Amino acid sequence: MERKLVFAPLARDGHTAIRVAGIADLESDTTIDAGRVEVLRRASAELLGIDAAGDVEPWCGLRPMTPDSRPIIGWSPLDGLFINSGHGMLGWTLACGSARLTADLIGCKASVTATRAFALRRAA
Ligand SMILES: Cc1cc2nc3c(=O)[nH]c(=O)nc-3n(C[C@H](O)[C@H](O)[C@H](O)COP(=O)(O)OP(=O)(O)OC[C@H]3O[C@@H](n4cnc5c(N)ncnc54)[C@H](O)[C@@H]3O)c2cc1C
Repeated sequence: MERKLVFAPLARDGHTAIRVAGIADLESDTTIDAGRVEVLRRASAELLGIDAAGDVEPWCGLRPMTPDSRPIIGWSPLDGLFINSGHGMLGWTLACGSARLTADLIGCKASVTATRAFALRRAA
C-alpha cells in the first residue's frame, strides 16, 4: 500500500501469473518505459520474493479520466453516438453498473438524476 502497487493473481495459459500494477502518468503516450518495469520487478522481488528476471510481460494502457472523476455515460451531440467512457482506473469495477445505465438510457428508462449525473455536459 505504501508503494501504491497492486499484486493480483491471474490464471493464464494454465499457469498462475501475478499482475503487478502501479505507476500512472498524466499523458497519452503508451510507450513502455523499461525503467518503470524495473521498479515493479524490484518491488515484486523485495515484497513477495518473486524472481521474475526474464519472465515478465510488460503492459500499459490509457485510463481516460474526467475532471470530476465520474464517467461520461449518455448521448453525444452527434446523432446516434452514445458515450460510455472516462472510467479512469475503475473501468472493470464500474463495468456492470455502467452497462446497466447505458441500457436504461438507450431504452429511455433511466432516472433524471442518473441521466444528469453522468451527462457529457453536466452543468448545462
Ligand atoms: C494499467 C491499467 C490497470 C488497470 N487496472 C484496473 C483495475 O484494477 N480495476 C479496474 O476496474 N479498472 C482498471 N483499469 C481500467 C480498465 O482497464 C478500463 O477502464 C477498461 O478497460 C475500459 O474498458 P473499455 O471497454 O471502455 O475500453 P478498452 O478496454 O480500452 O477497449 C477498447 C477496445 O477498442 C479497441 N479499439 C480502439 N480503437 C478502435 C478502432 N478504431 N477500431 C476498432 N477497435 C478499436 C481497442 O483495441 C480496445 O480493444 C486499468 C487500466 C490500466 C491501463
